[in-house]
Amino acid sequence: MKQKSDIGLVGLAVMGENLILNMESKGFTVTAFNRSYAKVEKFLHGRAEGKNIRGAASIAELVDSLATPRKVMLMVKAGQPVDDFIELLVPHLDEGDIIIDGGNTHYPDTIRREAYLKEKGIHFVGAGVSGGEEGALKGPSIMPGGSLEAWQQVKPIFQGISAKVEGGEPCCDYVGENGAGHFVKMVHNGIEYGDMQLLCEAYQIMKEVVGLSADEIHQVFKQWNTTELDSYLVEISRDIMAFKDEDGEPLVEKILDTAGQKGTGKWTGVVALDLGVPLTLIAESVFARCISALKDERVAASKILAGPEKSFTGDKAAFIEDLRQAVLASKIVSYAQGYTLMREAAKEFNWNLNYGGIALMWRGGCIIRSAFLGDIKKAFEKNPELNNLLLDDYFKETVVNAQSSWRNVAATAIANGVPAPCLTAALNYFDGYRTARLPANLLQAQRDYFGAHTYERTDKPRGEFFHTNWTGRG
Ligand code: NAP
Repeated sequence: MKQKSDIGLVGLAVMGENLILNMESKGFTVTAFNRSYAKVEKFLHGRAEGKNIRGAASIAELVDSLATPRKVMLMVKAGQPVDDFIELLVPHLDEGDIIIDGGNTHYPDTIRREAYLKEKGIHFVGAGVSGGEEGALKGPSIMPGGSLEAWQQVKPIFQGISAKVEGGEPCCDYVGENGAGHFVKMVHNGIEYGDMQLLCEAYQIMKEVVGLSADEIHQVFKQWNTTELDSYLVEISRDIMAFKDEDGEPLVEKILDTAGQKGTGKWTGVVALDLGVPLTLIAESVFARCISALKDERVAASKILAGPEKSFTGDKAAFIEDLRQAVLASKIVSYAQGYTLMREAAKEFNWNLNYGGIALMWRGGCIIRSAFLGDIKKAFEKNPELNNLLLDDYFKETVVNAQSSWRNVAATAIANGVPAPCLTAALNYFDGYRTARLPANLLQAQRDYFGAHTYERTDKPRGEFFHTNWTGRG
């Protein structure tokens, strides 16, 4: 073993242990530390046995074991534990040393911590890590933010352990300053909420409207995974539909329909509202989880509020293809909205985000990994200033071609009383975005009527404001 470790990792839970093993397998020596030392001992005598991994019994021992500039990665519960470990580490670190937070931290906390540590001459890297347990061990997607100087120091380790895609390109690159990495990871999670909900809506429509069985839906997802929808989430949904319980029935049908959430989707929706970005699909996906949680109320309401009788008379295969097109078009809208949010955040927080690089980071290793992200990368390579993904030639054509299928699916879901909040929100966004004149003229008139909020006129230059005494005339 080397005399000094390349990096120290604090937090021996699912993510920490697997990241350490991943780092070690790529030739890095790691020191492991945990609040409760028993976990360090268990790890050293278990999965880490015989590997270039050393344990530390104290923070002093951990820091002392590291090569300079020292790198300490925190993989602990997000929130106060991160602040607590920063306070424990700081007295032992020197200027130029680096603390990395790899947890699911809310980006304002990362901005705050980066500024705090900068004053002490210590670099802070906020790195979003996605891919769960398997990703951590075999190659996660890593989204690091912080100073460029710190990035140069951690780059060999992070790019060494991250997932790789075509041509061996690592799914890890510098995202931007201070909280940019955690912001991008948050948007990733929001998009994950949306992608998951779209597949859930497709499942419900196939089951409730078309009347397909779990095995038939399994076959549909299997076919979809050979198309532009090729992705990890379609793949696992395919497998879930085929999974049988002990009695031979599909397990998925026995699972209670109330979804949990840890808050990253909500954060994405909240910041979109703060920045005035129409992130409708992700917001609807968060609300879909909220309405799912009202199980008792829904069961009671289902006996009181009647909907239409469900009926389907068309060509099943043609409709399933329409559904695939509708999911694809909606997914494009979701990414268009997510990228618009990142663009607005970059302006707000003075980040220089590399949009194509972000698509590449999401291309492999993470939960939203898909072939489709390769096309997003190409779109931003062609035009780094692309305002909206819908305006890229490839995506424009795909969405426009999908339009009639998409409308058919939305209309069918609505006519049958089957909720499809994300599929329809995406279509509404598409129609709103491509409409030159929206009814906001009436809205401005209403605002001026009751609140003298003034309005601009189409026949006068922008920036000239008018007020009318609406009750004084006519
Ligand atoms: P976790 O359950 O979120 O956290 C467990 C670790 O945090 C343990 O090392 C624990 O130490 C430490 N910890 C908890 N409370 C603490 C406190 N008050 N003070 C000091 N240490 C404390 O672990 P995880 O699932 O491996 O996730 C680690 C981070 O990665 C989290 O931010 C998580 O959100 C993020 N993440 C997780 C996944 C995933 O799939 N699990 C994926 C991506 C990102 P003790 O052993 O002493 O309790």
